[in-house]
Amino acid sequence: MTPKSHRIDRIFLVALGLVLAGGLLPGEGSAQERKAVVLSSCSVVGETVTCGCQKKELGGLARRAAFIKSEGAKNPATILVDAGDFGSHADFEPWMRTEFQFAMMAKLGYDVVTPGPNEMTFGIEKLKTLLAGAPGIKVVSANVTDKSGRQLWDDFAIFQKGGITFAVTGVTDKAFYDFSLSRGTQKADEFAFLDCRQSLQRVIPEMRKQADVTVVLLHTGSGDAKRVLEGLEGLDIAVVGHGPVYKFAPEKIGNILLVQSGIRGQYLGRTELTLAGKEVVGRGGECTPLGETIPIDAEFNSLVTAFNKKYDALAAKAKPAKPADKSS
Ligand SMILES: [Zn+2]
Repeated sequence: MTPKSHRIDRIFLVALGLVLAGGLLPGEGSAQERKAVVLSSCSVVGETVTCGCQKKELGGLARRAAFIKSEGAKNPATILVDAGDFGSHADFEPWMRTEFQFAMMAKLGYDVVTPGPNEMTFGIEKLKTLLAGAPGIKVVSANVTDKSGRQLWDDFAIFQKGGITFAVTGVTDKAFYDFSLSRGTQKADEFAFLDCRQSLQRVIPEMRKQADVTVVLLHTGSGDAKRVLEGLEGLDIAVVGHGPVYKFAPEKIGNILLVQSGIRGQYLGRTELTLAGKEVVGRGGECTPLGETIPIDAEFNSLVTAFNKKYDALAAKAKPAKPADKSS
């Protein structure tokens, strides 16, 4: 045997070893393994450009679009989700910003959302009209009801992507809605809430039966998320909404990956599960900062620019119309 062929044999054996050790090689060497990816946003609060941060520019729909398009092209087994509060609470015409944000999410191909308090601001009818404008986006909630206790949306939705079945549910913490009510920012009080943990205990077993990957959109604070999830069986990924908490890597709570991608669209969560058959054999991911290393999508950039031009002009016009001081 020549030294060269000996070396090739060794390379082959090392490669074979890696495949046998758990399919570490991508492509044809690991045909049994499949990657499922969940891209996630939360608490964008109607932001269209950057977060306005002092030190670094982060976020904006045009960068989010570029990132989502490139990630989606890498793996067909990818879903795109939002854990609520994509809507704005700006002083001037917040609903105009909410509608624009949701229209852009439809254009980006979002698969599923769960509503946060910002989307509930003006009551059920207005929210249902908004959601009906993008029938391609599924709306799920296992715990939001009307005042009679009737659930307003499906418990969960099922998606088949790239040969993998995803089931996605959502729950929203009543505390944030009550807080908005107490501050007077909630304009119509038409919603009620079932217990988050009990609702998840009710729906996850059925999701598990139907899907390879189970996801909850958890519009709760970060600390509450752990309390809600502790000891829950059958859940793979929890996308935590609402809170300002940002963690680059997902946190592990038992077998559940907890994704915390901050607020105002500064970061996008990307969570990846490796499946061997039905079994999850690898868990990972990161929340990517949408900073200068991410390109700006030209199409979304021009849509955002046009919208903000219109919005700013209306806001400027509205300013002098502020009610005059009546005390004099
Ligand atoms: Zn919230």
